[in-house]
Amino acid sequence: MNFIANVLPGKVCVSCGRLTHQYTQFSCPKCSKGKIIRCKHCREITNAYRCTECKFEGP
Ligand SMILES: [Zn+2]
Ligand SMILES: [Zn+2]
Repeated sequence: MNFIANVLPGKVCVSCGRLTHQYTQFSCPKCSKGKIIRCKHCREITNAYRCTECKFEGP
């Protein structure tokens, strides 16, 4: 088995749509079903996010 060390799969930020390796993931505060993934940058500038499940928008 070949594992490539130091390469994380990464996630797509829901705010800017970019692939990120430094992100925070949390459940939607409204429906708690949607997974919100925000990159470090968007968290720092408090970019808005949108829930994929219920379309809830918020910081
Ligand atoms: Zn982002
Ligand atoms: Zn939601």
